[in-house]
Amino acid sequence: MARIAFIGLGNMGKPMSANLVKAGHEVRGHDIVESKIEDAARRGVLPAASNREAAEGADFVFTMLPTGREVREVLVDVDRILDFVGDRTIVVDSSTTDLESTDYIHKAAVKHGVALVDSPVSGGMSGAEAATLTFMAGGDPAAIDRAEPLFTVMGRKLVRAGGPSAGQAVKVCNNMLLGISMVGACEALALGEAAGVDRQVLFDVMSTSTGSCWSINHNCPIPGMVPTAPANNDYQPGFTARLMLKDLSLAREAALKTGAATPLGEHARALYEKFCEERDSELDFSAVIGMLRDMRQG
Ligand code: NAD
Repeated sequence: MARIAFIGLGNMGKPMSANLVKAGHEVRGHDIVESKIEDAARRGVLPAASNREAAEGADFVFTMLPTGREVREVLVDVDRILDFVGDRTIVVDSSTTDLESTDYIHKAAVKHGVALVDSPVSGGMSGAEAATLTFMAGGDPAAIDRAEPLFTVMGRKLVRAGGPSAGQAVKVCNNMLLGISMVGACEALALGEAAGVDRQVLFDVMSTSTGSCWSINHNCPIPGMVPTAPANNDYQPGFTARLMLKDLSLAREAALKTGAATPLGEHARALYEKFCEERDSELDFSAVIGMLRDMRQG
């Protein structure tokens, strides 16, 4: 049994920490929102009055925070968790953050002699609840090995992405591709509809031919094709357009940092920005098909 601190008990952190409790670990949790601590406590997480109190004496500290800003504040600039924990503690950041922030916390960890792993996840809230997340881990291989039994409690797949920040980098690449492929799927379906082709025919061809992809086969933006797709439930998420915009914005930042050309990623980001401004950012990201239909030219 490990002693684990869990910082950030929101949509993802609450079920993830609860799964660690279920596996028999002692989990102390903190969140700046009191009601989130109470919700987690109902699932067996021991309430801590501060992030530092949660981290005191922990074997592992997990952070699951909104953005790189909160991660930098908690680990380095405000709560200074990396300065506070000892060198036998392993710190794992599972938030999705910008590469600048990940580099920043890795550098601070080296300075304080603490093993840090960046390990964002895919699989969403349902995956967090069902413990079927994929973890993409970057950092010292020995630290990843030590955290592996916890990753396998909260998820079903661990990808060893490489050295420091490689987890965040691979997550941003995958999600940029997902955003592009969803916009592509929506455009192709809207074009087929405009050309008068039956929706079922469009789906049957696209889901079995060279155009097949996760966005068509598992998250089809038109209702009636894939039973579990959010399109069948008025586009209730699923994965919100707000989070897709966040990930495409992170991809843009990564492209600027590295000099890589990502014209389609930028185009998809601009479309999700428009969708979030003009429509409903809390809908599933496949709902962008409605906006594309309405953008008809001529
Ligand atoms: P969330 O906003 O529901 O949870 C984040 C929690 O962090 C909130 O409860 C917030 O109060 C807390 N918090 C903020 N600042 C804090 C601080 N200084 N100290 C302690 N707690 C603090 O977000 P979420 O949906 O749980 O997502 C968390 C991360 O996981 C994000 O980076 C997100 O991009 C990523 N992610 C989310 C999903 C998803 O489907 N929701 C999927 C994959 C990855």
